Amino acid sequence: MSPSTSPPDSKLLVAKENTDGICPECGDTALQRYPVLSEGGWFEVVKCRECLASLSRTPWSRLGTVTRLEDTL
Ligand SMILES: [Zn+2]
Repeated sequence: MSPSTSPPDSKLLVAKENTDGICPECGDTALQRYPVLSEGGWFEVVKCRECLASLSRTPWSRLGTVTRLEDTL
């Protein structure tokens, strides 16, 4: 049923959102922004869909006043 090993970034509760940019690792533009839950709490990350490089990782409060996600839905 559930995988035996699950990296923090796989705990997705919100749909991924395409975002503009170029991956510095592989040069691809398939970047995605989404919140993830890890040891330090919620973070909003931007990752390359091709090579899974992390481009940014910023603290994100799911219960706060962040409206960016809602604004895009
Ligand atoms: Zn990449």
